Amino acid sequence: MDAAEHHVEETKEEEAAQVMETTTAHSRFGRICVFCGSSQGKKKSYQDAAVELGEELVSRNIDLVYGGGSVGLMGLVSRAVYNGGRHVMGVIPKTLMPREITGETVGEVKAVAGMHQRKAEMARQSDAFIALPGGYGTLEELLEVITWAQLGIHDKPVGLLNVNGYYNSLLSFIDKAVEEEFISPTARHIVVLAPTPKELLDKLEEYSPRHEKLGRAEDEVGDGAADEQLQELRGPAGAQAQRWEADRPGAES
Ligand code: AMP
Repeated sequence: MDAAEHHVEETKEEEAAQVMETTTAHSRFGRICVFCGSSQGKKKSYQDAAVELGEELVSRNIDLVYGGGSVGLMGLVSRAVYNGGRHVMGVIPKTLMPREITGETVGEVKAVAGMHQRKAEMARQSDAFIALPGGYGTLEELLEVITWAQLGIHDKPVGLLNVNGYYNSLLSFIDKAVEEEFISPTARHIVVLAPTPKELLDKLEEYSPRHEKLGRAEDEVGDGAADEQLQELRGPAGAQAQRWEADRPGAES
């Protein structure tokens, strides 16, 4: 091999290394919980976004936590993550376990006693939350994790994938609530917003909370219990996110 050929060979190796670097990008998140419709929605763009989100998680080596089953967008996102080789955990209340209600879950199934335990378990297991388009169930799950962030019960990022402006009316409502002084201007920023999975994940990687916490749970339930509750909701994944925060260059020690 002459010098010119050697140079070409080295350049190819560098390019391949760069491709590896971008395709196996390191994320601050180990597991993300996705809330989304148990229906597929009318437009194909919703279904495409669910598959794209699954593929984006895979490309960043992030595992999925979700409500279990194979129905609607839930099935699309979970199959995309599972087929991409990442771990999928479906958290299902025992009452929803019959297959005709939820369909077959890919990956690990975690059975819980009821809907409340399901939400707490999904939150405990994850480092961040993302809502895709969905209906009452999705909205309820999304609003609860926003409320928990506002109360300082967790500090995990909450992302909203606003596919084709699906959530514009919810965002207008939030603006109205800020204007009418029911939501503080800083709490408006709890929700991280983007139109595509890639942009949303990029923003979530950068997110750090800047809203005032309305008061930690101990104000309501007494010291020890509150710390247990915080630890419970932060979970193993939360501890990992906190370590990541602490290790970040420029983080306060
Ligand atoms: P919805 O937006 O009303 O379709 O509800 C979807 C959300 O609620 C999901 O994120 C699930 O956690 C939960 N959910 C509602 N229906 C089901 C179902 N049939 N199977 C599994 N989870 C469901």
